[in-house]
Amino acid sequence: MNIHNFSAGPSILPPEVLEQASKAILNFENTGLSLIEISHRTPRFVEIMNEARMLALELLKLNPNEYTALFLQGGASLEFARLAYNFLDKESIAGYVNSGTWANNAQAEAAKIGNVLEVASSKSNQYQTLPEVKNVDEKLKYLHLTSNNTIYGTQFKNFPETNVPLICDMSSDIFSREINFNQFDLIYACAQKNVGTAGVNLVVIKNTFLQQATADIPNILSYKVHAQKESMYHTPAVFSVYVSYLTLKWMKDKGCIKSLERHNLAKATLIYSEIDRNSLFYGSAKTDDRSLMNAVFYLQDENLEQKFDELCNLEGISGLKGHRTVGGYRASIYNAMPISSVQHLVQVMQKFERMILK
Ligand code: PMP
Repeated sequence: MNIHNFSAGPSILPPEVLEQASKAILNFENTGLSLIEISHRTPRFVEIMNEARMLALELLKLNPNEYTALFLQGGASLEFARLAYNFLDKESIAGYVNSGTWANNAQAEAAKIGNVLEVASSKSNQYQTLPEVKNVDEKLKYLHLTSNNTIYGTQFKNFPETNVPLICDMSSDIFSREINFNQFDLIYACAQKNVGTAGVNLVVIKNTFLQQATADIPNILSYKVHAQKESMYHTPAVFSVYVSYLTLKWMKDKGCIKSLERHNLAKATLIYSEIDRNSLFYGSAKTDDRSLMNAVFYLQDENLEQKFDELCNLEGISGLKGHRTVGGYRASIYNAMPISSVQHLVQVMQKFERMILK
């Protein structure tokens, strides 16, 4: 049976990427060796690392003379702390927009390192809307946002216009839609949604901002050290970088972000239309703030959950359960998700409605 993978992350990867990645495990580019048993200093791997870094900038339409892309380890959670170690101290204040669980976590980590000001928050309405960000104090060291709220399913359409350096956690929507990436001084994303597989983070830094980073921290935390060493300060997560490289190439072959965005919009329209139409379900996030990547929805009658889960199982729908902290359902429809899987999910929701209302 064909399984339709709606997992929020680690999540669906293009079949072409999976196929090439498996080949590389057994026999990497006909070397007779596995990719995961050769040195990361092998010229071909160094080339792959550099190509992947360049491809990331190319897809984001960022000038490689102005921005540096890095593949680092530790998950997006490490970037919560690393960015604060680099740009914040006990004498300075950073602004945080609290738009969801991950945004809240990023803020809490930074508060251990320096001073944090919560510029806006939607915590009081359970993150079902996006907070309005206004009057950003120019003295802030940086302003941190989370572009897509993976758990509650909200997504910023626009970003604040400010002279304060903008830092954005794009873990769950990078490469999914065309925005002006030049407005950010630092972008980071764990790979396990739109970039590749877990084990690596993409970090993109404006060079002028990088210069402001402190050098007075351990090397492993220092963006300057990682940039000087071109992401090879220590052994990179070779396989994860390779999967990212393949995925970035796949995105370029698919027509880059513009074409992926069109595809993502079509999928989101399909699933949200069904959530709104189907009398058994409702969407939780405010309509205008809905995410194109994670559609969060609930059953009107919680008692039907077991029945719907059974039907999903029978119909080959996997990973649809909502985050453990919020329950319900979440259709994660990242770049690699084909529209046919979303169509299938819609049909299953319709079938369920017929079963219940018969
Ligand atoms: N930020 C966002 C927006 C996320 O969705 C996640 C994970 N789902 C994280 C941060 C944390 O990433 P990691 O598990 O790689 O630390």
